[in-house]
Amino acid sequence: MRVNPDLDFIKYMKGAGGDTLKNCYQCATCSVVCPLSTDEKPFPRKEMIWAQWGLKDKLVSDVDVLLCHQCGDCTAYCPRGAKPGDVLGAIRAYMYTHYGFPSGLAKMVSNPKMLPMTIGLPAVIVLVMWFISGGMHLPSSEDLAVQGYSQFFGHWDWHWLTKNVAFIDAIMLPAVGLALYSVFRGVTTMWKDLEKENDVSAKFRPSVKQFVVDFIVPSVKEIIDHKRFRECTVNADRVRGHKPLVLAFIGLLIVTIYSAISQDVVGLFVEGMHGPMSLLNPVKILANVSAIALIVGIGILWGNRAATEEQNGVKGSYYDWFLIYEIMAVGVTGLAAELCRLMGIPSLAYFMYYLHLVSILMLFLYMPYTKFAHLVYRTMAYTFERYRQSSFVK
Ligand code: SF4
Ligand code: SF4
Repeated sequence: MRVNPDLDFIKYMKGAGGDTLKNCYQCATCSVVCPLSTDEKPFPRKEMIWAQWGLKDKLVSDVDVLLCHQCGDCTAYCPRGAKPGDVLGAIRAYMYTHYGFPSGLAKMVSNPKMLPMTIGLPAVIVLVMWFISGGMHLPSSEDLAVQGYSQFFGHWDWHWLTKNVAFIDAIMLPAVGLALYSVFRGVTTMWKDLEKENDVSAKFRPSVKQFVVDFIVPSVKEIIDHKRFRECTVNADRVRGHKPLVLAFIGLLIVTIYSAISQDVVGLFVEGMHGPMSLLNPVKILANVSAIALIVGIGILWGNRAATEEQNGVKGSYYDWFLIYEIMAVGVTGLAAELCRLMGIPSLAYFMYYLHLVSILMLFLYMPYTKFAHLVYRTMAYTFERYRQSSFVK
């Protein structure tokens, strides 16, 4: 095999949490202890040497990189302290930037030096929209108690659509649209690379329905059940944090879909759909329980990561911590905004709500380039595994 090292990639690996890979001397202990590796397709030893050689193209189309759950079992047993689990994490981060669109945004989000810009961009977007809306004035405590944040962006007498919903849509929908397009483009490109790299060609193509029912749905079920996650031993605590987090996101997704339908569709005809929900409304209860699960889950992962880093004497990567801080910001600002509203402190409440909108915009807009992207890329890796073992493939 002719080796064409990508020197930029090697440089990236050194700066992104994979700087210990040069210590690897290929003993293969990591592949033996990895609970997710198989005899037919062992990892992560081969990824370690590919990374040392700078074989970027092989690594970005290596499904095993996405099947790793960063449990740390291999890192714990590596006799050379090469931290293969972290190396694979750094390769995954590189993959999301590599497949991300637009590439300028993907590079900005993955670069720690660009953090002020990464936070500043959504902060300015929300601020400018708030300014344009003309809603930049504080309500009285009484109004806040009655209206909640339903007039954050002001009010107009156009009952088809409230001004608040219109402005939130104008901020969030383009971000969601861009994220969905970026993920779709990234995943389809990755899928083609996986087929090429693994020499997979279809005997006959499944229909869209067959593809969803036979391959995507079982993969999603396996991920929600955390079946593979539970096989990890060294960092078993991660399952306890990861599971509530996944369930919280599902809960918040249901709440978001309900809000979008009730306010953007039904709300066009029924004015009563707008305004704050009662605390006893089942959707509100789901939102609050999910927010608490989100904070608890991310808190466990936070503590777990900090303890592992202390134990191993290493500094965490920007890629790992960025998503933890981002999710914590969404949960904490959301709950703080609600508490400040209930306590009747308009200035603090509006400030918290502003921060909440900024953190949500960051979550949506940057989803394809942060660790959050593993939700989709790993699901596709599970799906690819199923697909290539199926009768559809030659
Ligand atoms: S990463 Fe560590 S355990 Fe794995 S092959 Fe290299 S030296 Fe051995
Ligand atoms: S971090 Fe865990 S899942 Fe990933 S390669 Fe190491 S042992 Fe396997």
